[in-house]
Amino acid sequence: MNYLSTRGHPDRKRFCEILLEGLAPDGGLYLPEHYPQVDTATLAKWRDLPYAELAFEILSLYIDDIPPADLKAICAKTYTPEVFGSEEIVPLRELEDGVYLEALSNGPTLAFKDMAMQLLGNLFEYELARRGAELNILGATSGDTGSAAEYAMRGKKGVRVFMTSPDGRMSPFQQAQMFSLQDENIHNIAITGVFDDCQDIVKAVSNDLGFKRKYRIGTVNSINWARLLAQVVYYFAGYFQATAGNDKPVSFTVPSGNFGNVCAGHVARMMGLPIHTLVVATNENDVLDEFFRTGIYRVRAAADTHETSSPSMDISKASNFERFVFDLVGRDAARLRSLFVDDLSGQARFDLSAAPEFKQAAERFGFRSSRSTHADRLATIRDTEKRFATLVDPHTADGLKAAREHLTPGVPMVVLETALPIKFAATLVEALGHEPARPARFEGIEALPKRVVKLPADVEAVKAYIAQNCD
Ligand SMILES: *Cc1c(COP(=O)(O)O)cnc(C)c1O
Repeated sequence: MNYLSTRGHPDRKRFCEILLEGLAPDGGLYLPEHYPQVDTATLAKWRDLPYAELAFEILSLYIDDIPPADLKAICAKTYTPEVFGSEEIVPLRELEDGVYLEALSNGPTLAFKDMAMQLLGNLFEYELARRGAELNILGATSGDTGSAAEYAMRGKKGVRVFMTSPDGRMSPFQQAQMFSLQDENIHNIAITGVFDDCQDIVKAVSNDLGFKRKYRIGTVNSINWARLLAQVVYYFAGYFQATAGNDKPVSFTVPSGNFGNVCAGHVARMMGLPIHTLVVATNENDVLDEFFRTGIYRVRAAADTHETSSPSMDISKASNFERFVFDLVGRDAARLRSLFVDDLSGQARFDLSAAPEFKQAAERFGFRSSRSTHADRLATIRDTEKRFATLVDPHTADGLKAAREHLTPGVPMVVLETALPIKFAATLVEALGHEPARPARFEGIEALPKRVVKLPADVEAVKAYIAQNCD
């Protein structure tokens, strides 16, 4: 399998080459040259596999430069009940008739990002050892990516993590999860700004090819193809659990920020998994909802990014969206560039409302969307506790609300649970008047000593810090 850039760079790369990279050299995102097709016979064969083996089967279709026995061992080591809390790894439960919650948040940091990041940590360790190389991971997080990356990479040989986050914008629990790590190879950088500033810094550093090479900069943001690929697996696992041996379609609703999670659903659907609808759930930062409703993509400035009670979705520039648009415009890289490079650099908007592709987003690719507000979130959290004795986090609540707006009779709707409520305790308290349960291993973490530096939203300042800490 070869990988290409959405922006048309002529190079083709193998999986392990792009594993340790961020953006393609032309600023595009990597995608496989084609999506391997999975037929009904293969689905039947995969249906009863344990999660780690299912992961191996799917990953094998995209990774041909790691010997199969090694890849299988990496999957087996990653997806264990010890790390993810159950044999199923991503257990599905029916909430109400036809509406399911797929639990993706029982890993080390209690958010779905562990699903991909734990695999990435093991892939990085494997590949770096094989090359005798080192890597400095530079990341941006609004909370969950950072902790997932740090817990996946802590103590790993040959890897350092430099994680930027918007100063003061994460929940106390999230901050404590990250900043309490005392591992030498983990560096927390609090940036005076919002998440998009952090993401811009990571992009700017990654685009400085000289610096990137000299300091062996890699990324673990959701633009990393390996992460996206790891996420494809749980769409299959959710599908199998929601259907009983038939090939009936299933819909998924995905709380979305950077469009990484739902893009994995798009990939699963392109592979032939019978997905009826992919519902993109946003909060008040509704750039994606606006696009799927109107065909207009209008990136907001950092200053216009709302601080909401589902903060991991406070994103106004969805970094993975370009991957979907590439498929939407028939993989025409010149057309893609005209949308994302030429127009977006100046005006940060494009308008496909009159283009035939816009209709296809729904009709051919199955996308729908909804937006939630703080009041919706609180109402959903309350309602879910009252009717089902189940606590959901604010992001999952946004998903549940969106799901109910796009139900199709006879089609199971799977809502991806993207975090556990304890990560966002303040909002749960606001909604319910009581704290959600806290797993014992996180007792008292807010009081632990913190390891973090504060820097301005300035590329040069971040580069200088990395340079200083790379000896
Ligand atoms: C990261 C995150 C999201 C958004 O996922 P994307 O892949 O960026 O779309 C939603 N909910 C939670 C809890 C998250 O951590």
